[in-house]
Formats: sequence, structure tokens, C-alpha cells
Amino acid sequence: MKAAAASTGRIMGRVPQGEDLLGYLNQVCLDEGISAGQVSAIGAVAKARIAFYDQAKQEYGFMDLDEPMEIVALMGNVSLKDGKPFVHAHVVLGGHDGKLLGGHLSEGAPVFACEFIITKFSSDQEFVRGLDQGTGLPLWQGLS
Ligand code: ZN
Repeated sequence: MKAAAASTGRIMGRVPQGEDLLGYLNQVCLDEGISAGQVSAIGAVAKARIAFYDQAKQEYGFMDLDEPMEIVALMGNVSLKDGKPFVHAHVVLGGHDGKLLGGHLSEGAPVFACEFIITKFSSDQEFVRGLDQGTGLPLWQGLS
């Protein structure tokens, strides 16, 4: 893994070219034992797949962006899902004309270049995702 850990509980690193953006961030959290945290990143992807959650149908619709895009902003969190670290991230992507598109980051975004920072939280509270009946989403359990 190409990342440098600092004693402050932050990891700052690069996603290697060609790696899947979401898949790599998940792997960093798994390798570093991060079960609660915050993720941010900037950079560029060769293409991307983002999702929009249809609240009425309670399912994701996917949008494939088959062109190079800037990662104008990526923000997300880390919690546990199915016993493993799980990164939930949203992205704002910019095309060649500067117009922005955004949504829920899905696998299918090979990185051109990306710099990320993950802040690890230590907490007595575990953040574990489970099915929320009202929304149909895997939300944090026991927090509302
Ligand atoms: Zn989302």
C-alpha cells in the first residue's frame, strides 16, 4: 500500500494509477484497521460510476461517466458493514468544460491520479451499518 501513516491518526497517501477509487480506499481501511473515520480526496479519474438513490423505489440508479473527470471533491466516512470497514463516499466530478456532476461513489472509477486523507477515529461507540426499514438503506444502527 502506498500510504504514509502519521501518529495523529491520519493517513495521507496516493491511490495508484489504474486502481479502483472506492475499492482502494476500502482496502486502505481494511489494511490499517480503520473502523470509524473520515475520508477526503482530490484528483482525477479515467472514468466514473456514480449512483443516485431513488427514494420512492428505494434502489440505486447508476450513471456511467465514460470520460476523464476531475475529482473536485470526495468526502465520506468509514464504518463497519458486514463486519468489515466500509467507505461511504460522495463525489463531485468535473468534466473538461468545468461542469459538475455528483453522487454516491460506486466501484468502476479507475484512478488517473488521486491524493487522499483518512482520519481515524477512536470511539467507544461502534458504527455498524444495518438495514434501515424506513429508507431501505444500510444506515448506522442504534444512533437515532
Ligand atoms: Zn451515499
